[in-house]
Amino acid sequence: MLEKRSGWFMTPESEPAPLVDGVFVVAAADGRPRLLVSRCEACGARSFPPRERCSACSETDLATEEAPPEGELYTWTVIRELGRPTEGFIPYVVGQVDLADDLRVMGIVKCDPGAAEIGMKVRVCLLPQGHDGDGRELVGYGFEPA
Ligand SMILES: [Zn+2]
Repeated sequence: MLEKRSGWFMTPESEPAPLVDGVFVVAAADGRPRLLVSRCEACGARSFPPRERCSACSETDLATEEAPPEGELYTWTVIRELGRPTEGFIPYVVGQVDLADDLRVMGIVKCDPGAAEIGMKVRVCLLPQGHDGDGRELVGYGFEPA
């Protein structure tokens, strides 16, 4: 793990914390962020964010698994109003990303608005969302060009 100097002490840099629990993991086995989906044990339908009841067949026997890390931009738009999406992206791109044939996910796409294209390859990334009361960095999920 990386270390950073803090005063006279070398302290381990803490891993950022997810802004919302149970929706994504900051670092999967390969060290990269992944979205979490529910997969129905009865019909196989997947949902993001994970659900307690299948949206296709209403079964409640669902497993949580990691979604594919990369996909294609299905469609997108540019948000130009000042909000609080993440630090440093106004205007910013919001898109729908197909991570699989049955898995379309909406999120911020970290790219220049002029660079967004339908069909663009993107991958899940982390977006800074400020800090918690203990000074720990909070992150949300988004997408960036792959
Ligand atoms: Zn189902």
